Amino acid sequence: MAIAAESQAGEKPSSEVSAASDKQRRWNLSDFDIGKPLGRGKFGHVYLAREKKSNHIVALKVLFKTQLKQSQVEHQLRREVEIQSHLRHPNILRLYGYFYDQTRVYLILEYAAKGELYKELQKCKFFSEKRAATYISSLARALIYCHAKHVIHRDIKPENLLIGAQGELKIADFGWSVHTFNRRRTMCGTLDYLPPEMVESVEHDASVDIWSLGVLCYEFLYGVPPFEAKEHSDTYRRIIKVDLKFPSKPIVSSSAKDLISQVKLLLVAV
Ligand code: ATP
Ligand code: MG
Repeated sequence: MAIAAESQAGEKPSSEVSAASDKQRRWNLSDFDIGKPLGRGKFGHVYLAREKKSNHIVALKVLFKTQLKQSQVEHQLRREVEIQSHLRHPNILRLYGYFYDQTRVYLILEYAAKGELYKELQKCKFFSEKRAATYISSLARALIYCHAKHVIHRDIKPENLLIGAQGELKIADFGWSVHTFNRRRTMCGTLDYLPPEMVESVEHDASVDIWSLGVLCYEFLYGVPPFEAKEHSDTYRRIIKVDLKFPSKPIVSSSAKDLISQVKLLLVAV
């Protein structure tokens, strides 16, 4: 994968795609052939694209600066780019780089050929235990990798998961993610003066993703999230109470139910 050889998010790859002389040159739109639209996001559109020199297929996410400014999410986007471009894991969507012009910001993303997991779940209603287990173990491996790097995703849900050409799960959308190490450093300067509950806050924060993993496991197997209710306030109440119920249909093995319940116990203990 030639395009994957770059060292910094905004820089061109140092080998194969481009000669060493343009190492520091930034990407621009003329480096790509633009193909069919893949989807629409809140702030712009996503297109299939091909990097001309390497023929590498990517997804190009085009964001409008005016919309980013209006919604005051420039900071969030910067963080997303900074975090996602440094992650290298088979189950995390690669962000190869970015560039911008006067009106738009472009993100060069790994292309997930089979699209959104959310749509698959809607189509199938719910997944078999085997399929759910494959997704959950991929997600767990990706989250272990992120957490080891002090990155917490904080927005794990079916809409943010894409599927690659081989059916492999890819975590996308790091818009809500945080780098806890940076945050703690900027907040407190040094760890030495922190009380135990704050020193442990990394694990505590990371538990947000583990919780989502349990919720997702339930949703994969039953087709609906566990705390769903008509009113937002009822969902809130059910979450607070950890009001977890397993419907009789579809039939789910006791070991899968046990796994979901263990997540609950784990979090209550934190
Ligand atoms: P936002 O993230 O701004 O809330 P969103 O999640 O609705 O918006 P995007 O992430 O911008 O939208 O993507 C829009 C759609 O484009 C996705 O729902 C998906 O179908 C498609 N898409 C996005 N990225 C890729 C990709 N890397 N590979 C294939 N399809 C993609
Ligand atoms: Mg998204």
